[in-house]
This record gives sequence, C-alpha cells and structure tokens, in this order.
Amino acid sequence: MAEKVRNKERAAKGAPKGNKDKSVMPATGAAVKNSSARTAGAVNKGASGKTANKSAAGKNSQGKTADKKALKSAPVNGARENAQKAAEKQLPAQVVSREKPVVKRHGKPVEQAESVASGNKGLEVVFLGGVGEIGKNMTALRYKNDILIIDCGSSFPTTDTPGVDLIIPDFTYITENADKVRGLVVTHGHEDHIGAIPYLAEKLPGLKIFASDLSCALIRHKLEERGIDTPKIVTVQGGAVINAGCFSVEFIRVSHSISGAFALSINTPVGRVFHTGDYKIDFTPVDGQIMDLTRIAEIGDSGVKLMLGESTNIEKPGTTISERKVGETLERIFATNHDKRIIIATFASNVNRLQQIVDICERDGRKIVFNGRSMINVSGMARDLGLLRVKEGTVIEQEEMHKHHYSKQCLITTGSQGEPMSALTRMAAGEDKIEVNSHDLVVISSNPIPGNEKLVYTVINNLYRRGASVLYGSLEALHVSGHACQDELKLMLSLIKPEFFIPVHGEYRHLRQHEAMAVSLGIKKSSIAIAEIGSRFILHRHSLKQAEGVEAGNVYVDGLTDVDNVTLRDRKVMSNNGMVIVLVTVALAEGQPLAPPEVITRGLPLDEANIEVVRGLVTQVLGERDYKSADDRANFKRKLKRTLTRYFDAQCRQKPMILPIVIEV
Ligand SMILES: [Zn+2]
Ligand SMILES: [Zn+2]
Repeated sequence: MAEKVRNKERAAKGAPKGNKDKSVMPATGAAVKNSSARTAGAVNKGASGKTANKSAAGKNSQGKTADKKALKSAPVNGARENAQKAAEKQLPAQVVSREKPVVKRHGKPVEQAESVASGNKGLEVVFLGGVGEIGKNMTALRYKNDILIIDCGSSFPTTDTPGVDLIIPDFTYITENADKVRGLVVTHGHEDHIGAIPYLAEKLPGLKIFASDLSCALIRHKLEERGIDTPKIVTVQGGAVINAGCFSVEFIRVSHSISGAFALSINTPVGRVFHTGDYKIDFTPVDGQIMDLTRIAEIGDSGVKLMLGESTNIEKPGTTISERKVGETLERIFATNHDKRIIIATFASNVNRLQQIVDICERDGRKIVFNGRSMINVSGMARDLGLLRVKEGTVIEQEEMHKHHYSKQCLITTGSQGEPMSALTRMAAGEDKIEVNSHDLVVISSNPIPGNEKLVYTVINNLYRRGASVLYGSLEALHVSGHACQDELKLMLSLIKPEFFIPVHGEYRHLRQHEAMAVSLGIKKSSIAIAEIGSRFILHRHSLKQAEGVEAGNVYVDGLTDVDNVTLRDRKVMSNNGMVIVLVTVALAEGQPLAPPEVITRGLPLDEANIEVVRGLVTQVLGERDYKSADDRANFKRKLKRTLTRYFDAQCRQKPMILPIVIEV
C-alpha cells in the first residue's frame, strides 16, 4: 500500500519513469571467482590513509595553508578550484567560533532540465533509495563515464510485504552502467547502508568497496554468508582520501550508534559534494573519538556545492544525548542489582555500548556471555579490530555459566527489537537453553523501532511471566539515538554552508522539515531539492536541475523464491480476502461443459447454500457461450471473475482472489 501511494506521488510529479518493483533471484553463490580480487581483498590500511593523516596533522599547525595542501593533492579540477577559493577568501581555519553562522552563498534555483542530454556535462545525482523512507540508502554520482555509489542498504519487511525477507533497491540504473562503476563508498555498517551489498556484488564482480574497519568486517561477513568473494574491499581510516575515477573522496569521522561512521567529502569536476552520512554530535564519546568538526568546518569554508544531509531526527528539538548517559544509567542499575543475574538486550553493532557494559562487569567481577548469532559475531569482530577491549577471562562460553553464581553473570544478547527468532524472544518463550527466572533482571537497552512495539512488549510480558524483573525504555534512560537532533542539524548546515541542499535519510515529511530548517538558516528554497526514489538531478557549477528519473524502486528478496509485485499482491489478497477456485471441464469439439463446475473456497465465511449459489452463477456464465476458441475461453474467465466478484462483495463484503481453471478435453 505504501508503495502504491509513493508510486502515485511520483507519477503525479511526472518525475522518474519506468519506476517499478521487481524480484530478485535467490543467490546461487556461483559468482565468478577472481583470484586477483581476492588478493586485493586483503586489508589495506596503506598509503592513502597515511597521506591524509599527514595533511590532517599539517592543518593543525599551519591552519589554512595545510587546507590548501590537502586539497591540492586531490587530482580533481574542482578541488583545486575550491582550494583556490579558500585561499582567496583568506578565511580562518577555525570557523566553529564564527559569529554569524549564516549561509552566504546562494545557489541558483533548482530547475527542470530540458533533457537528460544536458546532464552529460554535469554531475548526475541519482537516488536509488533512502529518500522518502528510512531504510535502504543508496545514491549514485555520475560524471561522464564514472559512477561512484554511496551506500547500498536494505530495509526490513513490513506487514505490507508478507513472506518477504528483505527489501533492497532496484539496481537497474547501476547494472545498465556497470562498466562505469568506479567504486562503492560506505558511510557506516548499519543494515540500511550495507544490507544490499551482497546482491550488488553478485551483479558487479570486481566491485571495489571502501569502508571503515568495522564496516569492512561486517560486509565481509555478509559476503561470506552468501558465498561471494569477488569484491575488492579496502579499509579506510578517518581522514583518508581515495580516488575513484574522476572522484576523490575524503572520509570524515562522525559519531553515530556504530563505530567507524563517516561523512564524505567528494570532489567532483563540478565542485564539492558533502554527504553527512548518519551522525550525531557526541562531545563525550565512549571511545574518545570525537567527530572531526574542525575538518568539517574547513570543508564548509573551502566551498561545498551540494550537501546531502540526513534528516532522521529533524522532528526532535535540542541535541541528542551522549552515549555516556546510557553508561551512567547502566552503572546505577548494576549497582542496585548486585544480587541478580543481569541480561542486557541491545544492538550488536553498538560497540561503545558493549564497551560500557564490559567495563562495569569487569569492575564488579561479573562474567560475560555473549548470546545470539549476530551478538557473538559482531562482538568477536570488534574485539579482533581492537574496538572492544575485554580483559582475559571476562567472557565465558554459555556452557561454563553454571560454574559461576548467577549474581556474577551478565548475558549480553540480541533480540532488543523482539525479533521472533532472536535469543531473547526464545528465552522469554521458554524455548532457549538459558532459563529465565526470578533471579534475573532483564534490561532492554534500545527503543522499539516503529512497527516493532507489539513484538517487544510481547517479549517483556513473557519475561515478567517467568518471574524476571524487566527494565526498558519507558522506565529508564536506557537508550539514546544515534541521529542528530535539530540543533546539531543546524550546526551542520551552518558549518557546511552548501550552495545547494538535498535532505536525505528521512520520510517525506522529514525531508520537507529539513528543507524548512535550511531555509530558516538562509539557504534559498529554490536551491533545495526534495528527492524521491528514482529522482535524478544534474549539478553544474552554478545550477542544480531535476532531470528525467531513472528506473528504481523496491526489490523483494525471499529466501527461497522470487517475489515480484504480483506475487506480493496475491499474498495480500489471499491473507485478507481468501480465495475461490472454480474448476470447469469443457469438451473442445462440442464447445460444451462436460460436468458440473467444481467450486473450492478458502478463508471465506460461506455455507453450503452460498456455494450452491456460486455453482449456479458459474453454470449460468458457462451457458452463455461456447468454448471452441481460445478467445471465448478467455472471455469466460473474465466474465466469471466479474460475476463472482460482484456476488462476494454483496454477500460478505470480501474481494477474494478468484482462480477460474478451464480444463480442455
Ligand atoms: Zn546508521
Ligand atoms: Zn541509516
């Protein structure tokens, strides 16, 4: 339903054409093996990172000159021009303290491009996901024969998509231009940014992926699970600059609810594009890695043509609370519950939260058991990468739990969203090896994602039934968001001061509100564009124009079979309205039915008398024509569907799926 609405909106605007939903084949794992790719797949923390760090260090001591140097090293015209501009303006390197953070550069209005051909000279900005929705982020930048992809995420299925495992973007635009793809840059490792990478990698063997250490580990794991080993994965650190075709991309460290999150500063031949990624401004980050606001200010000062800014928390005033606040709450909970076993459910990828729990447990002498597949995987990766520091002997296997008193145990588990197959859900239902009882305090350290509330509260109810105490979001400050609230969003816009702005990572209302905020900060409304899935914009040095859209939409992935739009609609009709099968046997030679029709119904409140009426209607329609030609038989099916639909609507206000089957003998 949501899809339909969105398609309609798009159609009304006449923007992207050929926008449709399609299906994807399940992975075969038979991707082409590429030995050189595999070698290159080894971690490369090499030269690029080092160079960038050097320039970062330089900038501290020399201010603006270093900024110029950093930009000069980028082999792109736009970058040089920007550096020139920065030098000309003689702006101080530190702009955080500037008095009036008001946007001064005003771009020209966003116009409609006359034709796509006009885009040949400009930079195409193509949205394949993540706009008008929170989920499956994917954007492509194209200049002539070079395409750079930013993120490649997935969305979780909803009640609108029964039987679907995953929703990913339609890759048609990318696969049709596969020879031009120079790389995929990843802002961070959340599913809505990396979830669809295996499906893209299957279609683009040899794809080069640039991401942070944790993102790379998560991506590699995903690829291994699906038996794909062709992409070249390159690890980048904050401050690194990489080249991909005519683009050069600088990765800038930001705070978020996962380690290794970046904003991207992309030099293109028409100027600089800045993508915020997902971020919040945490002044007291648990890992001590403060967001690189200085660099962001410098980038803003040297000129940003186009900014893509995340909009998730645009409705929330003020600033997002620091992750440390959760640590303080947990400290208090541990201190007042020293006589209990503590079970904490949280997101596996929030390594900083895991670290805070580990620190408390080590201080209190509690042993930790990581529970649930993704928790075990991700905590293992984070320890290997040195992101999660755990003392020898703190973490024990589940089998060793009985050796320690329950008050000296802490279980860190998946399932904070009430996911049906997760460890916590199984424990709550009494279906897990770990038995929950009155010795347990269960702490749910996350807020239910909208749509998951019922699942989460079912788990909480079941935990109470087993005698456990439960603490969750509405009772304590057990979770903080990873996304910037209004004040942080304003700061970002003020630091970057883009000529043109496109809000991303939000539902339609979020994008509109972010637009209004940008206007309130001095950006002309006409310099802001609202994108939808499939939208294509052309960025020139002095203009941003909307061009004809590209083929884009949702692709539904079902573990076992292909799912297309028709299948999905059928599933919905069947689950909501039931189905009717009408079996008719006709003798082709005589053009007459051979036997009385058979009627089978499922999921409809009908008694024998109703069925009899249906049979009568079928016989009536049957008697109206002969069945010698295929046309007649098709007509019969249509007429029968119309007649029966009218009957069921009048009889029980239902529109069941009607399947007339004509057997010809
Ligand atoms: Zn995220
Ligand atoms: Zn996200």
